[in-house]
Amino acid sequence: MSALQTTTVGSFPKPDYLTKARAKASKGEMRPAELRRLEERATTEWIRFQEEVGLDILVDGEQYRGDMATYFAENLEGMEVSGLVRSYGNRYYKKPVIVGELRRAQPISVGWFRFAQARTEKPVKGMITGPYTMMDWSFDEHYGSREEAALAFARLLHEEARDLEAAGATIIQVDEPALSARSDELPLVVKSVGAVTKGLDAKTILHTCYGNYEDIYPYFNRLPVDQIDLEMSNSSLDLLARFRRDPLKKEIAFGVVDVHSHVIEKKAQVVERIEKALSLFDPQKLVIDPDCGLKTRTVEEAKSKLEVMVEATRAVKAEHGLA
Ligand SMILES: [Zn+2]
Repeated sequence: MSALQTTTVGSFPKPDYLTKARAKASKGEMRPAELRRLEERATTEWIRFQEEVGLDILVDGEQYRGDMATYFAENLEGMEVSGLVRSYGNRYYKKPVIVGELRRAQPISVGWFRFAQARTEKPVKGMITGPYTMMDWSFDEHYGSREEAALAFARLLHEEARDLEAAGATIIQVDEPALSARSDELPLVVKSVGAVTKGLDAKTILHTCYGNYEDIYPYFNRLPVDQIDLEMSNSSLDLLARFRRDPLKKEIAFGVVDVHSHVIEKKAQVVERIEKALSLFDPQKLVIDPDCGLKTRTVEEAKSKLEVMVEATRAVKAEHGLA
């Protein structure tokens, strides 16, 4: 891998025209085909922006998703989706419910991966909502065991990952925001994520956030992925001391902009964060990205944060003579 590659975690904000269209479509006032056309337009615009700003590894931007768990739930047999449930802060999401044996009738994310990858020469990440998070964020009325439910998701998501590979994905990211929901279940996270990534040729990434990293830390090197993608800036880089004591044996994608804040970071501040990361990690194994998905920011904020991030990364590379 070349030094200090830049990427993003996955989601981008939806432009106004798409937010309005989704509201209309949910009331039956817009045909699905028309909504799809606007999702394609927004995806194409985000691909173009990522190329213009100069990111190395792209994402499709998730313009077609409401919530990351609901999107997969809506596309699996054996699942239904409830009314709105409150999650952290003031965010609401529809809670998925497992009502029967889980089955994947067809690929879930592969169509959008193909659409995005066809629009750029740069690699686009395949994006999967992880089996542990799918289980933790769902009501289970069928399996009666958290382990069984997580492993059932893992089997289907492994097929999804295989299909992404067959469609040309060379990098597959498994999103596990629920990773640290219960520290006694970390072995189940390792087992279920491993069932997704087993035997894949693609580079695999695990993204997590909102975590109690102290509890998770001993598991980082055991997670069956090539790269760990972490929210670092929102926690004031607290984890760095831990990394110094106990080195990470994998690649790391290091969050250098806070996705929960409207404030656009100053370039000097981001440079400082990257320098701190560089003091600990091999630049060939260090990827620079935002803390998490940017979907809760405005389009302008998201773009500005990425511009600062790429400029800061270029400055650090020049300073250190990194190609
Ligand atoms: Zn996240």
